[in-house]
Amino acid sequence: MERASVIHKTASDQRPPPYWTDYEGERRAFSWELARHALQGLPGGGLNMGFEAVDRHATGALRDHIALRFVARQAPALDLSYSALARQTNRFANVLQGLGVGKGDRLFVLAGRIPELYVAVLGALKNGTVVTPLFSAFGPEPIATRINLGAGQVLVTTDVLYKRKVKQLREQMPSLRHVLLVAEDGGSTSEPGTLDLATLMRNASDEFSAVATQPDDPALLHFTSGTTGTPKGAQHVHGAVVTHYATGRYALDLHPEDRYWCTADPGWVTGTSYGIIAPLLHGVTSLIDREEFDAERWYSLLEQERISVWYTAPTAIRMLMKAGAALADQHRWPALRFVASVGEPLNPEAVWWGKEVLGLPIHDNWWQTETGGIMIANTPAFDIKPGSMGRPLPGIEACIVEHLEAEGEPPRVRLIDTPDVEGELALRSGWPSMFRGYLNNEARYRKCFDGDLYLTGDLAKRDADGYYWFVGRADDVIKSAGHLIGPFEVESVLMEHPAVAEAGVIGKPDPMVGEVVKAFVSLKDGYAPDEALRLDIMAHARKRLGAAVAPKEIAFLPTLPRTRSGKIMRRLLKARELGLPEGDTSTLEGGA
Ligand code: ATP
Ligand code: MG
Repeated sequence: MERASVIHKTASDQRPPPYWTDYEGERRAFSWELARHALQGLPGGGLNMGFEAVDRHATGALRDHIALRFVARQAPALDLSYSALARQTNRFANVLQGLGVGKGDRLFVLAGRIPELYVAVLGALKNGTVVTPLFSAFGPEPIATRINLGAGQVLVTTDVLYKRKVKQLREQMPSLRHVLLVAEDGGSTSEPGTLDLATLMRNASDEFSAVATQPDDPALLHFTSGTTGTPKGAQHVHGAVVTHYATGRYALDLHPEDRYWCTADPGWVTGTSYGIIAPLLHGVTSLIDREEFDAERWYSLLEQERISVWYTAPTAIRMLMKAGAALADQHRWPALRFVASVGEPLNPEAVWWGKEVLGLPIHDNWWQTETGGIMIANTPAFDIKPGSMGRPLPGIEACIVEHLEAEGEPPRVRLIDTPDVEGELALRSGWPSMFRGYLNNEARYRKCFDGDLYLTGDLAKRDADGYYWFVGRADDVIKSAGHLIGPFEVESVLMEHPAVAEAGVIGKPDPMVGEVVKAFVSLKDGYAPDEALRLDIMAHARKRLGAAVAPKEIAFLPTLPRTRSGKIMRRLLKARELGLPEGDTSTLEGGA
């Protein structure tokens, strides 16, 4: 189907009226100083993320409003109001105080999406304790590595996860002073060397005044997804809450009456910044589903929970597309009004799928663990160009740069002003949620900067209207016969083919042309991976991309290797293709 290159906003996309419609005007009027005034600040001065997210609402008009709604297959739904959440997080902060754990100490949480995880994260923030949520699916080694790297003193986990993943390596985590266990059956635990969290909570007071943290005090330590190599620990501060607030408004259009669902796990940054902090800052009701992806369940949750704003990821959208139209046809989502996606490039096909199946286009946005919050986005304020990441939000200055190569020298770059020229995406430092360092890796951190420009490691281009287009990660770009080929462009064309569910493209070394393009493809249900189909997909790609850019080889795989945050791991496709070591696979989905 021939499709337009722009999706214009319609009246139904704009209900209720969004916070902003004047992109340039809002950017001009914006300052981070002003944005901070939307928050309360601590009574005695200072800024605390947990206080702003929870306590600020707990005595105001939203005190009885549902903050978090937990759902699971085998358990009844549990609603926590803002005031109940304030009391619970107060208790948890008092538990930490009672253990002598205070400001600047480090706490890790290893749990599924259970209420205790959210209470621990927010309570620790109120206590000034630095938090790292870990994916509950991590194996023992990745858990121990991260706790050791972060010198974690406290671990909150469940009895089952402790016995399965932590106990055997406990001796090898010398910094760990306290392990607080949640009994998965709802009772209490009596595991040697641990404390029962429910008992501690019962005995703690539910009154607490947030510790006086300052904007530059550390709040969260997040590990990157490990898509390109060993995950890095990015350090974030309490001041990041100003970005979370502003972006919740500009990129997600969160209103207190919204019922919001962020599908990301808190084990990666989206699940914390936008699965915990930003929605609470805006006083919305957030849905938290304990279960893993399931197309029927997700469609039903969107419908039955009357979700109005949905923040998800390309991998989930591709899986819904793969599940087929018949399943979608059994559902209606009249409450849904705004859909956004992050984590990977969102193929134009997926944006259109949103329009056609959900009745709403999907708003792609771009950011990284390092940026702490959304930087570039499709927003309610302007039309969507499918395939583009959108435009920089107010307060964010983005640019495209080229490197001036000098062996052994610190990075030096030059701005590329001409539209539509590819280069590295860079951001002018100064937004509040910018990371303040990679844990134990100062050299790596410094390499990310040229003066006040933060170099993102992603290649992109900007068009004449100021929209940014993702090309690929610098590491993934393919050099073939003098062309630079971005995997995203090739993958998006492959996705247009009706049989293709997912595509990952790599450069395969070739003596003649440097690298040839090789594609790995997984198919939608109902298609057989045979030679005729391979040739048909190849022909489609040639027609759309030309022979120089189209894949020379296409291999079928049942699924593509992905990180637990849902990103296609091209480095693994490449290592496997070339028979090379796989490197760090701690974040590989389905891995140990
Ligand atoms: P690692 O740094 O360990 O290799 P990672 O970069 O995947 O892992 P994250 O910080 O979780 O870790 O992901 C950020 C990256 O994800 C971005 O740098 C970009 O490459 C990709 N990304 C995120 N959103 C988008 C988007 N909307 N379009 C294209 N790419 C995106
Ligand atoms: Mg990265």
